[in-house]
Amino acid sequence: MADHASQSPDSKYEVVIGLETHVHLRTASKLFSPAPVLYGEEPNHSVHPVCLALPGVLPVLNRHAVELAIRACLATHCTVHERSIFARKNYFYPDLPKGYQISQFEEPLATKGWIEIVIDGADSGESVSEKGDVEPTNKRIRLTRIHMEEDAGKSIHDEGIAGSDATLVDLNRCGVPLVEIVSEPDLRSAAEVSAYLRTLRSLLRYTEVSHADMELGQLRCDVNISLRIRGEQEYGTRTELKNLNSFRFIEEAIEAEVKRQTAILDEGGEILQATLRYDPERRETFVMRLKEDSDDYRYFPDPDLIPLVVSAQEIERIRRQIPELAEQKCERFQSEHGLSEYAATQLTQTRALSDFFEATAVAHGQPKSVANWVLRDVMQATKECDLEIDAIALTPEQLANLIRLVDDGKTTAKSASALLPELVRLGGDPVALVRERGLEAVSDTGVIDQAVADVIAENPENVEKYHQGDEKVINFLMGQVMKKTQGKANPASVREALARVLDQ
Ligand code: ADP
Ligand code: MG
Repeated sequence: MADHASQSPDSKYEVVIGLETHVHLRTASKLFSPAPVLYGEEPNHSVHPVCLALPGVLPVLNRHAVELAIRACLATHCTVHERSIFARKNYFYPDLPKGYQISQFEEPLATKGWIEIVIDGADSGESVSEKGDVEPTNKRIRLTRIHMEEDAGKSIHDEGIAGSDATLVDLNRCGVPLVEIVSEPDLRSAAEVSAYLRTLRSLLRYTEVSHADMELGQLRCDVNISLRIRGEQEYGTRTELKNLNSFRFIEEAIEAEVKRQTAILDEGGEILQATLRYDPERRETFVMRLKEDSDDYRYFPDPDLIPLVVSAQEIERIRRQIPELAEQKCERFQSEHGLSEYAATQLTQTRALSDFFEATAVAHGQPKSVANWVLRDVMQATKECDLEIDAIALTPEQLANLIRLVDDGKTTAKSASALLPELVRLGGDPVALVRERGLEAVSDTGVIDQAVADVIAENPENVEKYHQGDEKVINFLMGQVMKKTQGKANPASVREALARVLDQ
């Protein structure tokens, strides 16, 4: 990353970026029609006369979409306005049957918020301390506004279905509820853009506003980029990269566009405000059209819709429903449960994982030990079973019981871990499972003493080393005893027995 043109701290130009992010709201039906929101369905299987703009139809606002939109506004510290206006944004496109998109313009749902991002020192190129240590820094990215709007359909160019020149139209997406989240031009590198989008995505998922799956187009963004000479106050002219929907393409597109603008400015040229497309194959950006102005859209309040009114009480009710978000949770896991920053960060990646951890920690009583089990063994088992944490059959109580069996020396960590894939898939009572599978730890001193005696007899050099003061050898000998007992011996008993015999 360090050699990206966009991040080089000694480049002549400073990169300035503002994002417009479109987010699908997690509703069952569309914003103004009862057609269901479907993904990966046959084309045109979710269309209603309203989506088709048949004569005489009227839009009916989906209140659940409004609630989710407000949740997004509150989670990003925006001021939600009790009154906002739906406007018509007029333009022609085959996937927009009405000839206009219902959006909000002059009076949006919310304004003036912020998202706090954490940037690795290495990425920001600025916070490297004298010793060369890289300290992560926090930065607030201001939000200009959040407004509600409907999505358009999809035009599918040349899929080889109806001849090479055909453009097909799929209206399943037409009318899907969105919020558009507009940031101030506060971002300074591709790494900051990435951190911003990851934070935003986590926040949208924690609040259940959106699944925010970029591959499904539920989170897409327009990236506005300009350059200015370092130290200069005024912003340069910006260009806009439209509809990017993967982290990789966003990073690459920024890099390519910074390169393009740098070359123009270096030659004394002028940047024209334009809308661009990124071509991933050539890793270059291309001007699609010179920038249209908002005047071109002939915005006006939609006469079919009354102003959107939400009472202060309603806004407060929604505010109270906002759950603890990743960042606060991460801090609390450290202060309340004594976890390391690393463990806390890992465990708060998703709300499902953090909930699973915390419920297990409560059931078991020792959060640090539970964190180890979840991050190492449970994650390993879910991966092996190709399951997401919110789809596993293992309950927090079952996991707590399993860990307790290990704590009490009733089974070994190895045996417990071996049971996890099955528990993750099917669930079950760990106590019964350990008994049925004969995985009880061997605490029978007769068996352990015999294994210890055998190992000592078989490893005279190591025993000698131990007596010469190399105490680490005991770990090797322990391993040998565990092997002899098929990993079933209670490790504490083995250590005790070994020490007893060696120190005789
Ligand atoms: P429009 O809606 O016409 O695209 P806006 O004024 O709403 O225009 O700005 C859209 C986005 O462009 C915002 O995210 C804003 O932060 C960003 N932006 C504005 N000026 C610049 C600039 N000079 N450089 C980079 N980004 C900018
Ligand atoms: Mg724009």
